[in-house]
Amino acid sequence: MKIIPSVLLLLLVVSLSAQTPVDGFFSKKIDEAVDLMNIGEYEKANEGFSYVLKNITSVPTDLAYYFGKNSFHLKKYKQSINWLNKYIQLKGTRGRFYDDAVETLNLAEDAYIDSSKERAKNMQEDMASGEFDCGGMEKILCPVCKGEGVVFKKGPFETLYQTCPYSEGKPYISCSDYNLFMKGELEPKIKY
Ligand SMILES: [Zn+2]
Repeated sequence: MKIIPSVLLLLLVVSLSAQTPVDGFFSKKIDEAVDLMNIGEYEKANEGFSYVLKNITSVPTDLAYYFGKNSFHLKKYKQSINWLNKYIQLKGTRGRFYDDAVETLNLAEDAYIDSSKERAKNMQEDMASGEFDCGGMEKILCPVCKGEGVVFKKGPFETLYQTCPYSEGKPYISCSDYNLFMKGELEPKIKY
């Protein structure tokens, strides 16, 4: 009878000592990142939060809020929306950051819609001027095979796979080819 409590105690001590240093380490990291966020060092805060997110086995709910909030400051609106939603889902209205999470989420959603509109407008203007700069990239996802490298051709009996004749089996085409494609002037490189 006497042995049971001491076994329990031993288990408790073992599990605490296995957990405490790790928890303490990560919670210190989180606290440091929160301090950085509060003084407006969002990039540095982001490094801290990202580090914890990558290395911790189970994400503390408050971290979802902090990371979502900091992402908003960094204008990473989609990421902000995802994490703030996650926080609200996990904590519901009882979360201690609930009000701020909802408020920031609304701002992030508005900003995300605005930035999407802006992007769409810029893209239309680029198209209208006849040149699209591919967002500054030299290559862009092949619009024919959608980056799959293969296209499907319905044969009489079966669906056939063919190497994408425009990107030659690669996921990307060059930006100049993309502009030709948009003008309807891109010739397939492989003739079937
Ligand atoms: Zn392709």
